[in-house]
Amino acid sequence: MKVHVSTYGCSASQASAEIMMAAVRDRGHSLVPEKQADVLVINTCTVKYTTEQKILHKIGEAGRLGKKVVVSGCMPEVQLDDILARNPRAHILGVNSVSRIGQVIDSLGSSKERMQIFLNEPEGFQGVPRIRFNPNIHICQLSQGCNYSCAYCIVRIARGKLRSFEPQDIVADIRNAVSEGCREIWLTSQDNGQYGTDKKVLLPELLEMICDIPGDFKLRVGMMNPFSVLPVLDDLLDAFGNEKVYKLLHLPIQSASDNVLERMNRYHNIEDANDVIRRFRERFDDLTLFTDIIVGFPGEEEEDFRKGIGWVREFRPDKVNISRYTPRPLTEAVGYRQIDSRIMVRRSNELHNACESIKLGSKNARVGNEFTVFISREAKKQGVMARTGSYLPVVIPECGPDSGLSPGMSCRVSIYDATPGYFLGRIIS
Ligand code: SF4
Repeated sequence: MKVHVSTYGCSASQASAEIMMAAVRDRGHSLVPEKQADVLVINTCTVKYTTEQKILHKIGEAGRLGKKVVVSGCMPEVQLDDILARNPRAHILGVNSVSRIGQVIDSLGSSKERMQIFLNEPEGFQGVPRIRFNPNIHICQLSQGCNYSCAYCIVRIARGKLRSFEPQDIVADIRNAVSEGCREIWLTSQDNGQYGTDKKVLLPELLEMICDIPGDFKLRVGMMNPFSVLPVLDDLLDAFGNEKVYKLLHLPIQSASDNVLERMNRYHNIEDANDVIRRFRERFDDLTLFTDIIVGFPGEEEEDFRKGIGWVREFRPDKVNISRYTPRPLTEAVGYRQIDSRIMVRRSNELHNACESIKLGSKNARVGNEFTVFISREAKKQGVMARTGSYLPVVIPECGPDSGLSPGMSCRVSIYDATPGYFLGRIIS
């Protein structure tokens, strides 16, 4: 079969697509560009309404073009009827069942039966072959699901209760990836801070176990929520002290207003989040801070929104993922009275502009600085993409194939310019 795999959404979703591509290849099928494919595997995300609509259109269009379609990821778990309404012949793989893709593709050649596989427990997420989107970067999913219930969130409904993967399986998976040449390891899940709360090993201990793996690699710890970090904060700060761990904190606040956080059913107030950030900044003076903010959640007053603007000006995050609130099916907030979309647009534009000017300010302030950087991959245009110890992106254009420097190696650079997406560095040693 000629198969094309497309994927949407988070790093965990990307990792599932990598696993499915390898499974398809290992069953003797060929991976081809979309236009040449007989079979489209569409690995879905359901967090945002706009993405949902794009994906549903694609599922319908592929069916009309006579292509066989396999829909996997989060949407089958929460919007199966919507999928089958667009394409009643679509084959379905639940979010825990990516390892069964080979079985589904094999069946397409021989049977007319529509396949639908939903496993209750996640299967085959560690220690399995991968076709990585970037051969230098290994995405390791630590767990499936979440034990909290934020009012706007459809992910926990799609992925279910928290199931942390076994620490020894995670360590073996990463050891294998390092032996295959990966130099950057992304740890991902719905909330890494919750790791192990259903097991005996919590995140700080897991990080130490991973850092004990020999080899030149760096660890990027993905998103953690204030309420799941606080109980492990002291040990987490110690674990982050390891030279292998990027000093990057991705801590979604979602809102800087306690009124809105309460309506969102977020298990923290803004001071909790601020405490976590202050503690990390006390320990790591060049910490990079990423956060997520939802604009226009039902009940957000102008005063609440202004607190958000004040917060970004005070805490100066390096990156803010801004989302305009859209009601998601099956969530608690789906029935809440929506805010006028013109107000939402005005607020998200204003927040975006505030964040961009802060980002540019912090960037320009770093021009002229010197950093030891870790080369993580080839750059898109020229040279290599490297990262400082706090995950700041530095492109080194002069670093060509004959420079003797390659992914996994480190060098000292001086920053001579900043672009919206990355810094430009020159090698000094
Ligand atoms: S912490 Fe909240 S937003 Fe994150 S997955 Fe859980 S319920 Fe969803």
